[in-house]
Amino acid sequence: MFWGDKLLQNRSGREFVNDGWTPSGIVHMGGLKGPVIHDVLAKVLKEKNKEVTNNLSFDDFDPIDGLPQTLAESYKDYMGIPICMVPSPDGKGTFGDFYGRKMREMIAALGIDVTIYLASENYKKGLYNDGIKTMLDNVKKVRKVYEEMYKKSLKDDWYPLQVICPQCNKLGTTKVINWDGKEVEFVCLPNLVTWAKGCGTTGKMSPFNGNAKLPWKPEWSIKWSTFQVTIEWSGKDHMSKGGSFEIAANILKAVFDQEAPMAQAYEFFLWNGKKMSSSKGLGLTGEELLKVLSPQIARFLMIKTEPNKAVEFNPVGTDIIPKLYDDYQKTADAYFNNGDEDLARVFELSQIGEVQRPSEIRFSVLAQWVQMPNMEGAIKKEGLEEWAKYARVWVEKYAPESVKFLVQQELPEEAKNLSDKQKELLKKVAEKIEQEQDPEIFQTHIYEIGKELGFTGKETFAAIYKVLIGKDHGPKAAWLILSLEKEFIKERFEGVANMKQEAGNKNQDSERKINVLNDSKIFSIATEVREKYPSISVGVAVIKGVTIKETNPDLEKEKQQLLDSLRGLTTEQLGQYPEILAYRKLYKSMGIDWHSRRPSPEALLRRVALQKGLYTVNTCVDAYNLIVMKHRISMGAFNLDTISFPTEVRFAKENEELLLLGDTELTKYTAKELGYFDTKGGFSLDINYRDAQRTAVTLDTKNIYLNVDGFYSVTAKQVQTSLQESCDMIMKYCGGKLETFGIEIA
Ligand SMILES: [Zn+2]
Repeated sequence: MFWGDKLLQNRSGREFVNDGWTPSGIVHMGGLKGPVIHDVLAKVLKEKNKEVTNNLSFDDFDPIDGLPQTLAESYKDYMGIPICMVPSPDGKGTFGDFYGRKMREMIAALGIDVTIYLASENYKKGLYNDGIKTMLDNVKKVRKVYEEMYKKSLKDDWYPLQVICPQCNKLGTTKVINWDGKEVEFVCLPNLVTWAKGCGTTGKMSPFNGNAKLPWKPEWSIKWSTFQVTIEWSGKDHMSKGGSFEIAANILKAVFDQEAPMAQAYEFFLWNGKKMSSSKGLGLTGEELLKVLSPQIARFLMIKTEPNKAVEFNPVGTDIIPKLYDDYQKTADAYFNNGDEDLARVFELSQIGEVQRPSEIRFSVLAQWVQMPNMEGAIKKEGLEEWAKYARVWVEKYAPESVKFLVQQELPEEAKNLSDKQKELLKKVAEKIEQEQDPEIFQTHIYEIGKELGFTGKETFAAIYKVLIGKDHGPKAAWLILSLEKEFIKERFEGVANMKQEAGNKNQDSERKINVLNDSKIFSIATEVREKYPSISVGVAVIKGVTIKETNPDLEKEKQQLLDSLRGLTTEQLGQYPEILAYRKLYKSMGIDWHSRRPSPEALLRRVALQKGLYTVNTCVDAYNLIVMKHRISMGAFNLDTISFPTEVRFAKENEELLLLGDTELTKYTAKELGYFDTKGGFSLDINYRDAQRTAVTLDTKNIYLNVDGFYSVTAKQVQTSLQESCDMIMKYCGGKLETFGIEIA
């Protein structure tokens, strides 16, 4: 049985469902769980009984006790003042309205049927007057609850109430010290809390009609008592033993002789095992979630698992979102085809208004469609316009690199080394294209052409992907081909097929031209590295007698020209360069998250894309960085005189350490990480992420040692070109003479 039905199966009669939220900051996605759960509970109850109320309190009478970082400075004087008395950052209404509006929009989008009330208005309307009076009259009982729960005694001047200071408007700084049955005596204390400073005013005033507020645990019990709340669940942080719920329940019992509402804790969403938190930047905000999930699927995510179980949700670089859509489609299937009852019920309660049958096209396929040109027709035909919007967001923000692709306007590098047979395949596919309409049938035709040539399916389609998207995997080939102009396909496929002779020669030429180093006294590639990365090639050069300066006006001009040529570059585009993808893949294989440690070409270009400009280090480093950015090939330059030869690229030993340039503490390698090492130890971390302090190129450096890194699709030829151009560039601005130059290949 669905958890909601099971938990509520014995209930009948009037129900009042309540929930609360403080509108003082951006809501992370976990903040939507409470409203969705309460909505589902109310819906289940409404099926049994008409008399069901579902209310949500925006607790805008709470004092501001913390601020979003963007407002920390400009709003600091408002600390301690109730949210409803502070202006909105956008000038419209109050501070609480600002965040409340966003929450209202999300609640509406999620189809949540709830009445929202403002705590401040209930206080002002006098709704809690009776409760406040009873609470103050029975202050001894309240003190006793606290004393028992916290195991400490409270003084006679302790009251569960705070007034708004008539002098400074602060509530967080005031303390009520006496109650005469009509008025309270208060003080506004400079040091009651650390986050706000009171003004020192003392006085007497009525505690009613919005002059004063209860701390939130007694306030909770007053809400329960006033509305006769029957159900209110909370996040598990409030529901622990001795936690706020228990205190509020005990106050309710002691002062009002009433029982607490039915409650259960709901668990958090986790981000890599940690609780999501918007202030720590862990996890998605509610708004971000609703940009990538349809509201039905967002509801589905909140209710498909029993609420008391934590749900891990990190969609970055994972398939967690496509899977969620798949699971949703399965529950739809259960609903429409009389399948599993629980699944059908979850689907039903995920709906907003009328039940909508989702498309049967998988989200992962749709994510491919949105990356293909000319697919609007198919998307429309399947009624997938809305989901396509979410798929685009997913591809752009969250999808793993392996599922992203771009049809390349120029022939990709990967297409230049196809075998004669692969070319024949392309030619035959191109010949058929005119007659093909139906992708299913076309896909079979392509497969058969490949089979006749002796290819497996994978080999067949890899040839097509290489020629169109520069990868060896991709979306279903027939769909991809049919999404493109037929003329384009014919030209591309026939063009590659006819490259036969010419390309063959070029290849041999380029291989012959590689200047192989083969000098293990200078540098070698460790055997384990050759085995794991058979594609590896490393460029090595020595330049002696350089003169390095801080800057050079001509070099600055070249830097500016490069910046101009990169104008309009976006971080999304970076993820489409094969070189950058190659280094990301390398990092992944070393167990490094490339979001946190960026390979050097990406790091430099990312700065440009984010308009942070170029570094100025010195004329040597600045010079070769230009080549790094031009070719997107990573390299490092080191002070030759600090290196103790021979050097090698190898896996680090577990816990081997190095002092990185700019650091004061040692950094440990893991055994999966690669670095450049000499006889003294490592001088680079993760190939090119960062370099050691001891080998750094400074203004005093006279002799330079250079390494260029080739992995996967970054070929020895590219390594050689980059090495040559960097040496030229360094000698142009620092002088010196090239002494050693070569490429080590696996
Ligand atoms: Zn004051």
